Amino acid sequence: MRIVLATGNRGKLAEFEAMLAPLRFELAPQSAFGIEPPDETGTTFAANALLKARHAAQLSGLPAMADDSGLEVDALDGAPGVWSARYAGPGASDADNIAKLLRALHGVPPAARRARFRCVIAFVQSAADPAPVFGAGVWEGRILEAPRGTGGFGYDPIFEDASTGRGVAELTSADKNSRSHRRQALQALLSALGQ
Ligand code: IMP
Repeated sequence: MRIVLATGNRGKLAEFEAMLAPLRFELAPQSAFGIEPPDETGTTFAANALLKARHAAQLSGLPAMADDSGLEVDALDGAPGVWSARYAGPGASDADNIAKLLRALHGVPPAARRARFRCVIAFVQSAADPAPVFGAGVWEGRILEAPRGTGGFGYDPIFEDASTGRGVAELTSADKNSRSHRRQALQALLSALGQ
């Protein structure tokens, strides 16, 4: 099946390509159709994933899949959450967002730095699909005091995986892709689609 992947995030794209490679999906990034991402006007991961998927399906004429994801920090009452990409302002870089988060958690002890990555993936057969399919995933961990490792993207250098105690940017991409919020969301989506 040929599907448009509604993301412009190269980190996400690489992870989806690796995870879907064993299956019979032909993924095309929305950039291959010249599609620019829409404004993310939703206030939930599901709403944003769905609006991105519908937008890509509308402009490509193909089924589309989109992920919306982010980091939820307990000590910050769940921030940055759905606003993770724009935490340090519109057009913020990963480094800007990380610096702002480390400042916000300055002096917070390790036991109070609990956090989780969330991911919701939406799949639509067409722009007007009345029955979109969703998969959701959660990855528990904590925010490190300083960046560690060089892999991954986004907040990976300051997120420690709860089950191994390792920084996500210290994991191989295969390790990250075997346990991440995105892997779990994709697994849930594929089983909902009967794959
Ligand atoms: P979105 O493109 O609106 O879904 O924004 C997601 C934001 O959350 C990204 O910009 C990243 O900063 C962050 N994020 C989502 N997934 C990951 C991940 O796997 N690792 C690190 N950061 C992530």
